[in-house]
Amino acid sequence: MSVLVVGSIALDDVKTPQAEEKNLLGGSASYGAFAASFFSPVNLVGIVGNDFPKAHVELLKSRPIDLSGLKVADGETFRWSGEYFGDLNTRETRSVALNVFESFRPTIPENFRPTPIVLLANIAPDLQHLVLDQMRQPRFVIADTMDLWIEIAKDRLLELLARVHMLILNDGEARQLTGETNLIRAGRKLREYGPRFVAVKKGEHGCLLFGEGGQFFACPAYPLEEIRDPTGAGDTFAGGLAGFLAGQSGAEVSFDTLRQAILHGSVLASFDVEDFSLERLKALSKDDIASRLEDFRRLSAFD
Ligand code: AMP
Repeated sequence: MSVLVVGSIALDDVKTPQAEEKNLLGGSASYGAFAASFFSPVNLVGIVGNDFPKAHVELLKSRPIDLSGLKVADGETFRWSGEYFGDLNTRETRSVALNVFESFRPTIPENFRPTPIVLLANIAPDLQHLVLDQMRQPRFVIADTMDLWIEIAKDRLLELLARVHMLILNDGEARQLTGETNLIRAGRKLREYGPRFVAVKKGEHGCLLFGEGGQFFACPAYPLEEIRDPTGAGDTFAGGLAGFLAGQSGAEVSFDTLRQAILHGSVLASFDVEDFSLERLKALSKDDIASRLEDFRRLSAFD
């Protein structure tokens, strides 16, 4: 099975206390698609401007990612710039330039419409709705989001939750969306808005998975001593998780399969943060993933 990934494709400028890098390949869909492609073929839908470097396209092409849904529009690519402070847990957005993204209306190519697993990576909820309107009965739909949409498009986001099987968001966003300070209450409340499963990410502390009938799983994060750039960790986690699900057979996505998917997403995210942009992921082998998975299972006493 394959996975459809729709989201932002960006040129990022990133500053950390140690280094500053510009014009990096970024965006929720770039990270998501790249991570998913380690476990299943990917259909990518997004938009870039005609300034988008060929090398970035070549990098995406080097993976089993079908780029026929990538639109190249007249104008500049979406740009995002962010700065990290201290222990890298605090980030400030320095600037955002929507550019060609402003007029983006995702069109899903005909042959992508039956894709069974759909990752609605972080973009405006209106656009996420538009994608679902065009899909033919996907088996499992995962939506990611961010604080901006909770602030400016909360109603559309809540409507979206009734249409997806799984929501992924971070702890701050879960609190912001539900008004609950306790994360367990927040996770359970989010399920009442529609999704069968909710994953609440807690950065370097891992993530919490909520399922039907009070099912609950707390996954630690892989212990890393050095982090160079946390950008895209959430998108990589979601992509790895979606790709793992697409690589599984079986009619229903069970809680147990999702626990495994979370483990795979976490391992991919742990590689992402070891370097800027997709630098570490592009050098990643299946053996690297397998050995870190084994290590992670052993360290976290995961069966
Ligand atoms: P994360 O570190 O998981 O929050 O994701 C960072 C990525 O999100 C960067 O590569 C940005 O290009 C992208 N991004 C930032 N703001 C937005 C936005 N408003 N819509 C879509 N993508 C965004």
